[in-house]
Amino acid sequence: METRYIFVTGGVVSSLGKGIISSSVARLLLSRGFNVTIQKFDPYINIDPGTLNPYEHGECYVTYDGHEADLDLGHYERFTNIKTTRANNITTGRVYQSVIDKERRGDYLGKTVQIIPHITDEIKRDVKLLGSTGKYDFVITEIGGTVGDIESLPFLEAMRQIRWELGNKCCCVHLTYVPYIKAAKELKTKPTQHSVRQLQQLGIQPDVLVLRTEQDIPAPMRRKVAQFCNVSPDAVIQSIDAPSIYEVPLLMHEQRLDNIILVKTDTPFSGEPDLSKWNHFLEKMQHATDVVNIGLVGKYVELQDAYKSIDESLFQAATHNDHKVKITYINSERLNDGNVEKMLSPHDGIIVAPGFGQRGTEGKFIALKWCREHDVPTFGICLGMQSMVIEFARNVLGLADANSVELNPTTEHNVIDLMEEQKSVTNMGGTMRLGAFACHLKDGTKVARAYGVLDIEERHRHRFEFNDDYRAQFEAAGMMCVGENPQTHLVEVIEMPEKRWYIGTQYHPEYSSTVLNPHPLFMDFIRASIAYQKEKETV
Ligand code: GLN
Repeated sequence: METRYIFVTGGVVSSLGKGIISSSVARLLLSRGFNVTIQKFDPYINIDPGTLNPYEHGECYVTYDGHEADLDLGHYERFTNIKTTRANNITTGRVYQSVIDKERRGDYLGKTVQIIPHITDEIKRDVKLLGSTGKYDFVITEIGGTVGDIESLPFLEAMRQIRWELGNKCCCVHLTYVPYIKAAKELKTKPTQHSVRQLQQLGIQPDVLVLRTEQDIPAPMRRKVAQFCNVSPDAVIQSIDAPSIYEVPLLMHEQRLDNIILVKTDTPFSGEPDLSKWNHFLEKMQHATDVVNIGLVGKYVELQDAYKSIDESLFQAATHNDHKVKITYINSERLNDGNVEKMLSPHDGIIVAPGFGQRGTEGKFIALKWCREHDVPTFGICLGMQSMVIEFARNVLGLADANSVELNPTTEHNVIDLMEEQKSVTNMGGTMRLGAFACHLKDGTKVARAYGVLDIEERHRHRFEFNDDYRAQFEAAGMMCVGENPQTHLVEVIEMPEKRWYIGTQYHPEYSSTVLNPHPLFMDFIRASIAYQKEKETV
C-alpha cells in the first residue's frame, strides 16, 4: 500500500497531549493490522534534547540506536510496542545543520539558500524518510509547539506542500482546547475557531479536529465548530480528560477517529481493530484495588515529567500484577539521617533515580544505607546504581571518601570512574555512551531469573561506570557484579544476593517497558515489593 501521512498539529495552548493522541491513532491503526510509525518534529534549535535539563523539557528519552529524544517517543513506544530510532525525532537544529552542511559542501550549486525552499525541502525529505523505507502504511508526524509560533512556520509550510502533493494520501488532525469558564458555566469554542483560522491562513484545512476538554461538549456545540471550521461534523471529536492515558485509544475509537482517518486517506479497510490485549490490560487496571507503594528518590521531584518512563514502567508492571501503584516522590536533597526512616518506611519498594551532578546525591546515599540495612526492595537506575556502589564502598568497605569522579574529581577511592572512551570528549551534545548495548547476565542470579534469559540488550545514557579495580573487594563483601558487557566487560548490573531485592542497573530499563510488554525487571521489582508488603502485614 502506498504510504499515507497523518499530521498532528496543536492549537490554543501547549501540553494538550498531542503525543497521546498521535500514539492512540497509531495504536488503533496497528490494531487494524496496518504498519505504523510515529515521528516528532520539534521546532527548537537544539540538535536534540540531550543537552536540555529536565526543568526545560522533562525526561530525555533514548532510542535503541542511541538518539537522545523527546519524551513523546517514550509514549510512542509504550503505545505501539515498536522501537523508535533517530529518524523519529527531528529538530529545527538538525534541519538547519543538515542544510548548512550541504551549503558548505557546495551542494546548492551557487544558489542563495533560503527557508523556502531549502529548509522546507529538507523538512519534507525528513517527513518522508521513514515512509520511503516501504515498511509503513502510515507515517504519523506530530508537529511540536503550537500553531501561531514563529518557529513552527517552516514545518507547517512543508506540511502544506506535502498535503498538496499527496492529496488524499495525507490528512491533518488538529488538536485544540475548549476551556470551561466556571463563572459563566460555559464551554468556549472561540479559541478553537481562532486556531483553525490561523491554520487556514497558512493554507492548511484540518480534516479532523480533536477538542481537548474537561467537560462533555454537547453535540450541537460540536456541530457549530464543524460549521465554522469547514470540517465534517463526524470529524469533530472530543478528547475528555481520562483517568488513564491508556484509555484514550478506546475513547477515540468510540468516536470513530480511526474510521474517519481511513476514509479521509482513501485507505481500504473492513471490520474493527483487534484491541483484545489492550482491553485486557485496561480491565486489569480497572479491577485492581490493592495498592503497592513505591518511593522514588530523586532531585527533580516537583517536575511532573522528569521521571516519565519510570512512572509508566511502574504503572505497567503494577497493573500486570493486578495492583494499583502509588508513587511518592522523595526529594533527595531533603533527606537526612534524622528523617530517612519516616520518609522511606511507608513504602514497599524504593527506586533511586538516574541523574547528573552532585546536587541531591548525599541524600541518595542516606536513602540507600537505610534501604540496605532494612532490607527493603530497592532498585537503583544509572546514577541510582552508581549511588548503591558508592554507599556500599563508604559504609561496608570502609572507604569513607569513596565517590564517583563526576561528584568529586579528586576522590582517592573512585569506585565510579569516567569511562575510558569519555576521556577525550569535549563536546557535551550526543557524546555519552548512548543506546542499546549487549549485556551478559550471570546464571543463577535474581536478575537472570527475572529476565528468564542470560543475554539481553538495554539502553544506556552515561559517562561514568563501575571501577573494575574494586570488583573483588565488592564481591567479597556481598555486592556482586552480575551483568557485564561481553566486549568491554563494563559492569552493567550489581546485586546483593542475600537481600530481598537489591539491584542496580547501569542501563535504563524504563525506556523499553510497554503496555503489552512490561519490562521483566520492573515486573520482578513490583512482585518483590508486593511480597514485602504482605510480609510486613503479617509481623
Ligand atoms: N551522571 C551519571 C553518568 O553520567 C549517571 C547518568 C544517568 O543517571 N543517566 O554516568
